[in-house]
Amino acid sequence: MRPVLFIVIPCYNEEQVLPVTAPMFLSQLNSMIEAEKISDNSRIMFVNDGSKDKTWELISELSKQDCHFTGISQSRNRGHQNAVLAGLMEAKDVADITISIDCDGQDDISAMDKMVDEYINGAEIVYGVRSDRSSDTFFKKFTAEGFYKLLDFMGVEVVFNHADYRLVSSRVLQEFADFKEVNLFLRGMFPLVGFKSTSVYYERHERLAGESHYPLSKMLSLAFDGITSLSIKPIRLITTLGMVIAALSVLGLIAILITTIAGHSVTGWVVMTAVLTLLGAIQLIGIGVVGEYIGKTYMEVKGRPRYIISERTADQNKKEH
Ligand code: UDP
Ligand code: MG
Repeated sequence: MRPVLFIVIPCYNEEQVLPVTAPMFLSQLNSMIEAEKISDNSRIMFVNDGSKDKTWELISELSKQDCHFTGISQSRNRGHQNAVLAGLMEAKDVADITISIDCDGQDDISAMDKMVDEYINGAEIVYGVRSDRSSDTFFKKFTAEGFYKLLDFMGVEVVFNHADYRLVSSRVLQEFADFKEVNLFLRGMFPLVGFKSTSVYYERHERLAGESHYPLSKMLSLAFDGITSLSIKPIRLITTLGMVIAALSVLGLIAILITTIAGHSVTGWVVMTAVLTLLGAIQLIGIGVVGEYIGKTYMEVKGRPRYIISERTADQNKKEH
């Protein structure tokens, strides 16, 4: 039996790029169907993430033009990660495999062939990994690679240079459905599920149209979220830092004691002030980091829904009735 593939594509204000990339996704899907790799029941599922432009109208239109296009719409903008999750959860009971990919054509669509081959060879998760970043500016390259190194240092297991282009089998998604956290960092969560996994390398291009939704500030907040959602190492680091400073202070006190006994008076209010401000700053950072975890716990305890689907394209309604 050929597997049913669902390509899950989050879209937020993508009216410029969708008309360009939708036919590319379709021809990729058709070529895999013709090569008898996947079933004809495979679909391209767009997830509209509360777009303010004509994205949803475009998706509805596409689903009328070709039965391989389908779509769901979130009731409001919830961000990329939640949109991908909504699509994957929607697909997990109808598909055998899913591939999540951005809708802007930056990720090499033809790498899907290799991903499906790896699935057929037994992998349950196939990570799409960027082989080079030559299309990126120096700044983007530097910050993005720093991002992965920081995650690794902080104890978050991620595949280097892998974003959210990945194949996941429905078997893994059934297990993944039990990961109920509301603070999502999908690329750090899938390695936790386990199962046989592998990587496929591809070159990443520039966006075909429109603008990135990930400026530096959003990237930093994603990195921070990723770390604090998946690791408690920052709290440990603070504790270690506290212990190191305490040890140094004791050594300092002993030194002062010895010099005083030896008859030298110790002056140096400048050094004292500097040390006090440093300690104050470290304490504030410590409280901030701990506060971040309390905030995250607060959000988790409330357990609000991670996505709300408000609309589905007409083809799905037909199926239900
Ligand atoms: N996206 C989304 N919700 C958002 C922001 C982005 O669904 O709030 C989608 C967007 O349409 C795209 C993908 O997430 O398909 C990645 O966004 P983008 O290309 O802007 O990020 P970059 O590739 O620059 O990191
Ligand atoms: Mg992009």
